[in-house]
Amino acid sequence: MQNCIFCKIINNQAAASIVYQDEICLAFMDIQPVTPGHVLVVPRQHLIGLGDLPPEIGGHLFQVGQKIAAGLKKSLTRCEGINFFLADGAVAFQTVFHVHLHVIPRFEGDGFRLMFGPDYRKLPDRSELDRLADDLKLVL
Ligand code: AMP
Ligand code: ZN
Repeated sequence: MQNCIFCKIINNQAAASIVYQDEICLAFMDIQPVTPGHVLVVPRQHLIGLGDLPPEIGGHLFQVGQKIAAGLKKSLTRCEGINFFLADGAVAFQTVFHVHLHVIPRFEGDGFRLMFGPDYRKLPDRSELDRLADDLKLVL
């Protein structure tokens, strides 16, 4: 894909600090890290989002993410925990439309926060959870 920055990185047309690569994916340092050591794992194939991702490639990205996470914990990077993050769609904060798994090292006081909507603290009734589960089961 001509205008895709991750395809450019994969094709050696843009700079990246690569930490791992194999025949299916590439992992490199995020240019604007949430914390130092933030890595992106991307498939070599230009796939936009979760719906385009064959399960075996998705599984591979997750496995490589685990490998990177284990590496970060052994490395000199400050890493007391890890967040995986995958944004599927603009509303979910996807800004680069080539699917990618964020591997974000975490440490006490790193300043990274999640914000929730106003209803987050109101726990739904079991009946509401069951209704949502039933609705979803119908389409799985
Ligand atoms: P997302 O919001 O999940 O789509 O994340 C896109 C990520 O790609 C952001 O964390 C960006 O900092 C990162 N990014 C964008 N361009 C580059 C680049 N040239 N090299 C490395 N990371 C990049
Ligand atoms: Zn791409």
